[in-house]
Amino acid sequence: MGSQEVSSTVDWQGKHVTVAGLGVSGIPAARALHERGALVTVVNDGDDERARAQAAELEALGITVRLGDGATLPPSTELVVTAPGWQPDKPLFLAAAEAGVPVWGDVELAWRLRGDDGRKPAPWLAVTGTNGKTTTVRMLASILEAAGLRTAAVGNIGVSLLDAVLGETEYDVLAVELSSYQLHWAPSPRAHSAAVLNLAPDHLDWHGSMAAYAADKGRVYEGNTVACVYNAADPATEDLVREADVEEGCRAIGFTLGAPGPSQLGVVDGILVDRAFVANRQKQAQELAEVTDVNPPAPHNIANALAAAALARAFGVEPAAVRDGLRAFRPDAHRIEHVADIGEVRYVDDSKATNTHATEASLAAYDSIVWIAGGLAKGATFDELVTGAAKRLRGVVLIGADRALIREALTRHAPEVPVVDLDRTDTGAMSEAVARAAELARPGDTVLLAPACASMDMFTNYNKRGEAFADAVRARADESA
Ligand code: ADP
Repeated sequence: MGSQEVSSTVDWQGKHVTVAGLGVSGIPAARALHERGALVTVVNDGDDERARAQAAELEALGITVRLGDGATLPPSTELVVTAPGWQPDKPLFLAAAEAGVPVWGDVELAWRLRGDDGRKPAPWLAVTGTNGKTTTVRMLASILEAAGLRTAAVGNIGVSLLDAVLGETEYDVLAVELSSYQLHWAPSPRAHSAAVLNLAPDHLDWHGSMAAYAADKGRVYEGNTVACVYNAADPATEDLVREADVEEGCRAIGFTLGAPGPSQLGVVDGILVDRAFVANRQKQAQELAEVTDVNPPAPHNIANALAAAALARAFGVEPAAVRDGLRAFRPDAHRIEHVADIGEVRYVDDSKATNTHATEASLAAYDSIVWIAGGLAKGATFDELVTGAAKRLRGVVLIGADRALIREALTRHAPEVPVVDLDRTDTGAMSEAVARAAELARPGDTVLLAPACASMDMFTNYNKRGEAFADAVRARADESA
C-alpha cells in the first residue's frame, strides 16, 4: 500500500496499521483508525504506570498495544502512523522504509481523514516558525472569533488536530500550529494560507541539519491556495516561499515592523497597516489596529500580530475584527508575563524563552534589564545574544547546569556587567535568584526571566520554572506591601 493509495476514501477495513507512540496524537489516531475498521497495533517505548493505564483503555476497545518496544515493526504492518516527535532515524522507520511501508504523522492522518464522514472540511490557516507559533495561532483564533467565524486553535499547541477534524463541532476555519516535526511527517496537507514566522537553528539534532530543518518548515507553504506569509526581516522565510509549489494565484505576503511595501503588512506611526489585501496596493493602505492593541506590545509580538492579521485578512476578515481580536487576546502564561511591580522595578516571566532566538526577542523589549538566565543550553552558544543585549544589561543572575557558558560569553562581550553566579539547584534557588536580581535592579529596570535554555536540569518543565519565579516575586511583593 503506497502512500498515494491510502486516501480519505480508502477502505480501512482490515488494514494493518501500526501507531507509534501513545500520547496526545497517538491515542486519537488509534481510536479513529480502529473505528474505521483498521487492525491497529500501538507500539510505545515507555512502559510506565501512565502508559499502562492508557494501554488498558485502548485494549478494552480491541486495540493491540505493545509497551516497552517502539523499535520493532510488527510484521504485517501496511502503514505506520507516528507521533511527531519520534526521530526519523529510529529503527522502526528504517524497517518501514525497507519494507516499503509509508509513514504518516498525526497531521498527515488528520488531513487524509478530514471529510471522510461526508462533512465539508474546514480550511486550515497554518503557522510555523522557530518562535512565536503558539502566540500567533492564538491571536489568529481570537481574530477569527471576533469576525464571527467558528474556529479553534489546534495542532502543536496541545490540542489534537485529529480530534478537531473528526469531532462533532463544526468549524468554518482552523488556526493550526505546526511544528517542524509534524511537517516532516506530513507530505500532503494543503493550507488555505500559511506563515513561517522566523527561522533560527533549533532541533538540529532531530532534523540532522539546518537545511533539513528549513525544508521541513517550508513544507507548510506547499499547495497554499491564497497566501504564503513571510517575515520580511528574515530572508530565509521568503526563500522558502520562493521554493514552494503553490496553487496558481497564491500570493507572497510579507510582514515588517517598518513601513510596508505593496503586498505587505507593517507599522506606520504606531498603527498596524495592511498594504496587501486592499483594492489598490500601490497607493492604498488599510489601518488595522494600533500597536497598543497588541498584548504585550513588544517588537517580536507585534510581528506575531502582523502575521496573524495577514492570515486573517487572506481569509477575508474585516479590519475591525483584526483590531477586536488583538484586543481580546491574552497571552499564555510564562510568555513575557508581567508578574508584579515592586518599588519601581518590573518583574517579567518569559520562562518559555528556552532558546537564544526567543531570548533575543525578549531582551530587545526592555531598555534596562536585570537578566535571569541559564539552564540546559542544548548545544547553543551565547556570544551573539550577549553582544546584542550588553548595553541594556544592568546585571545578570545565572542559574542552572550550563551557566558557565553564558558567564564566559559575558566575560568576553560585556565584562563591565555585574554577574551573580548561583551555584545551587535546590528548590530555593529561584528565590535566591530573584533576591539577587532585586539587589542589582534600580528604579525603572525590568527583572526578566528569559533563560535561553531548557529547564529540565532544575525543574520539571518551563511552566514550573516560571511558577517558581512568579512565586518568589509575589512573596517579595507581599513582604514589601
Ligand atoms: P512557540 O510556540 O513557537 O514556542 P511561543 O508563542 O510559545 O512560541 O513563544 C515562545 C517564546 O518565543 C516566547 O517566550 C517569546 O519570548 C519568544 N517569541 C515569541 N514570538 C517570537 C518571535 N516572533 N520572534 C522571536 N521570539 C519570539
